[in-house]
Amino acid sequence: MDNFEKYCTQFVQEVGSKEGAISPTITSSASFAYGDCETAEGIFNGSVKKPLYSRVGNPTSAKLESLMAMMDGGVGAVATSSGMGAISLSVMSLLSSGDEVISVGGLFGGTYSFFSETTARFGIKTNFFDVDELDAIKAAITQNTKIIFLESVGNPNMRLPDIKAIAQIANDAGIALIVDNTITPLSIKPLELGADIVVYSTTKIISGNASALGGCAVFRPINEGDDKFKSERYPFMAKFIKGAGKMALVPNAKKRALRDFGMSANAQASYQTMLGLETLALRMPRVVNSVEVIAKELSKNGLDINHPCLESHPHHERYKSDFSNGCGTLLTIDMGSKEKAYQFLNRTKLATITANIGDSRTLALHMASTIYSDFNEQEREFLGITDGLIRVSIGLENPQDIIEDFLNAAR
Ligand SMILES: *Cc1c(COP(=O)(O)O)cnc(C)c1O
Repeated sequence: MDNFEKYCTQFVQEVGSKEGAISPTITSSASFAYGDCETAEGIFNGSVKKPLYSRVGNPTSAKLESLMAMMDGGVGAVATSSGMGAISLSVMSLLSSGDEVISVGGLFGGTYSFFSETTARFGIKTNFFDVDELDAIKAAITQNTKIIFLESVGNPNMRLPDIKAIAQIANDAGIALIVDNTITPLSIKPLELGADIVVYSTTKIISGNASALGGCAVFRPINEGDDKFKSERYPFMAKFIKGAGKMALVPNAKKRALRDFGMSANAQASYQTMLGLETLALRMPRVVNSVEVIAKELSKNGLDINHPCLESHPHHERYKSDFSNGCGTLLTIDMGSKEKAYQFLNRTKLATITANIGDSRTLALHMASTIYSDFNEQEREFLGITDGLIRVSIGLENPQDIIEDFLNAAR
């Protein structure tokens, strides 16, 4: 719990200002006046550090970016309009037609279709692997592989990757590792484990109350000596490294994705996200503790629960060693059939039926008929989506109330 305590101090101290308005200022302006032509030129060439235009940077979002970078131990960050915006920003900034991606574990539905359908339309090939297929991952690396992508906790299959081992593979081969760490660095810190870019859906536990859609990509510094981004694999990085040094992944993301795709964060959403961030370290330990209590008790009462805190889970040992601060807000219940799943969901009084996760309230959803309804049987099987699968995101309620409600609903 030391991790949570450290962040409790850091978040409230950093979100608030010591002078003037304590709450972050919302700069709700799309454009910014430069005053004179010389300043305009300087802003555009980067020598003057003033806001240019909100699509490529907004002062309120910049505050969120500095908080997110600090939280992760990164050198910089880019806030985006959504979690998918952060994923598309970081991925598209590194890829060209003909490139390949290796996707490991998970995946969140939108991320899966992003790789299997959308980027495929632009000539990018993605190979999908389960988290423990390390030899197959190594064997799939080619000259054209530019990204290994993984989710720190598979949503909703609850598989836990050995991030360090996969980062080792990425670093040995000189390939960028992007980690979707929507469960936040309060649980696991991908940059420390060897990742290059970490992406978030801040819509989830970071905001925590369904008030703002948002995302963020956090970048590690470029090394002074050898660095994978100085290799032939990423020739376009040379000019950004020359111009921005250790910060180079930030202008790369802005100029090769944000500027032209426009998945930019807005000031209002960034403000609301910061309000959420302020209490994240207080909410997180309660939720991860509740998830365990609820998973164990429901399992003891005969429900088919998937969560790595259970001894029956294939990654139970990894959960104990690598995820000692929990692995987010999710657990799943397999009710055996769609009918039983519907009956359960329609009977629960406390769970809100919705596609979101990481909220103050407990949320639940039948997977196969909603987020994964566009996917074929083979894809569902790979992603662990069975007919009776319900994804549950535990909230701040008293866990005993949830247990009682769920046992009633399952009766
Ligand atoms: C929700 C989610 C996303 C997408 O985020 P949005 O903010 O909805 O675009 C990506 N990855 C994970 C793990 C998620 O839970």
